[in-house]
Amino acid sequence: MGAVTLLPRTRRDNGWFETLPEVLPAAPLVGPTEADVVVVGAGFTGLAAARRLGELRPDARVLLLEAGRIGNGAAGRSSGFGIDHAHNIRSEGFAEAVEFEKQQIALNRAGLAYLNDAVTSHDIDCDWIWGGKTHAACTDRGSTELEHFAATLDRIGEPYEVLEGDALVDRLGIDHYVRGLHTPGTALMQPAALCRGLATSLPANVVVHEETTVTWLDAGPPHELWTDRGSVRTPELLLANNGFLSGFGFYRHHLIPVVTWGSMTRPLTDGESASIGGPRTWGVIPAAPSGTTVRRLSDGRILIRNVYSYSRHSLAGGRRRQRAGRAHRRAFEARFPGLVHVPFEYTWGGPLSMARNGEPVFGRLVDGIFAAGVHNGTGLSRGTICGKLVAEMMCSEGSDLLDAMLARGRPNRNVPDPVLGWGVDLYAQRLRLRSGREM
Ligand SMILES: Cc1cc2nc3c(=O)[nH]c(=O)nc-3n(C[C@H](O)[C@H](O)[C@H](O)COP(=O)(O)OP(=O)(O)OC[C@H]3O[C@@H](n4cnc5c(N)ncnc54)[C@H](O)[C@@H]3O)c2cc1C
Repeated sequence: MGAVTLLPRTRRDNGWFETLPEVLPAAPLVGPTEADVVVVGAGFTGLAAARRLGELRPDARVLLLEAGRIGNGAAGRSSGFGIDHAHNIRSEGFAEAVEFEKQQIALNRAGLAYLNDAVTSHDIDCDWIWGGKTHAACTDRGSTELEHFAATLDRIGEPYEVLEGDALVDRLGIDHYVRGLHTPGTALMQPAALCRGLATSLPANVVVHEETTVTWLDAGPPHELWTDRGSVRTPELLLANNGFLSGFGFYRHHLIPVVTWGSMTRPLTDGESASIGGPRTWGVIPAAPSGTTVRRLSDGRILIRNVYSYSRHSLAGGRRRQRAGRAHRRAFEARFPGLVHVPFEYTWGGPLSMARNGEPVFGRLVDGIFAAGVHNGTGLSRGTICGKLVAEMMCSEGSDLLDAMLARGRPNRNVPDPVLGWGVDLYAQRLRLRSGREM
């Protein structure tokens, strides 16, 4: 197969990671070694897969290789919503579509249950709460989106609560929104702390090497992977590197690499917190697809996320970062007009991988090489369950959920660059304009 052509780059700008205690130096892979299974990528997918492989094959030597530090990749840069059902499901009510939606929710819930189990049994300190998510609208168009969403939830029998007027202000402590729809099944947490906790509580037969970028693959089996300072021979390889999968030669023309951005304020003072009122923590998902996600965090900070841009570079900086920071500032000041003096301490980007038809990469790619990725924005729960299920598949453990993932389609082919980039940026711009005040 040869050189890996797309490699992640990391920066120390991720607020979630930077506000945790400093990590110990990494232990990169040095010299040649052998393993029974190698997992590449320690985001939610790779961490779940390595855990499950370790559980199911206690005598196997499992290697988990991560290019950067665990908690500083896309997983630890996310907004920390462990989502049970997608933000914008639009089932039209046909029996088949209803069954499909229910199956997708069952998959996400199984991912959340696996995470919750790890968090509780290993006492992972990551502010995990079953706080639910509030879809919130500040325009008439956004309110209409929420009505459609409510109709879908009715059809699939999912509970929700509509919030208006005082009830909405009581829930969030701010009066920016005109309507809310709260669904209870989402977990909120500090995602970088979750990733780190998952990594340090892996079964004893899983060996983790951070700062270990796989730069070359001689495909077998046995496969030989090369890193800057080491190499590993293995009969089985699992690629859990999401948007970087195409760097290994798979789905080269099928994945859409995008970056989305988050910013985090300094902790509010007690007086500033009291001026908002409402509960100390919550999570808002925008009613419009390109609107602003907001979280109020237990340490008193406020998180803002919006703006998507096309990028093959994992952590685009420069002008795009500045533009995202300005958009975050506008969104923050509109929602918290009494806190315009509160600065952001961090602004960061994170890579995501999308497919035009919304379908995932899952299962066996070629002899002895498996992959799971492309979770279209719900990677916390979906990446976890896909990592777990692909590990079970590798151990010949069947289940209805595994069958459901194997029955899904695969990402469809895109037009080549630069046309793809122009198209994605244009589409993102259109959504942004359409979102209007929901930004
Ligand atoms: C700002 C932002 C907010 C988001 N908010 C949410 C949210 O609230 N909820 C949600 O569900 N999702 C959210 N997402 C999406 C979520 O982060 C992704 O879906 C998720 O991280 C995908 O998990 P993964 O394990 O498949 O891939 P990743 O988390 O991308 O992990 C892949 C890992 O592979 C490593 N890697 C790649 N190539 C190599 C190589 N050659 N050698 C070694 N290692 C390699 C990378 O360094 C990376 O750590 C958000 C994303 C961003 C950027």
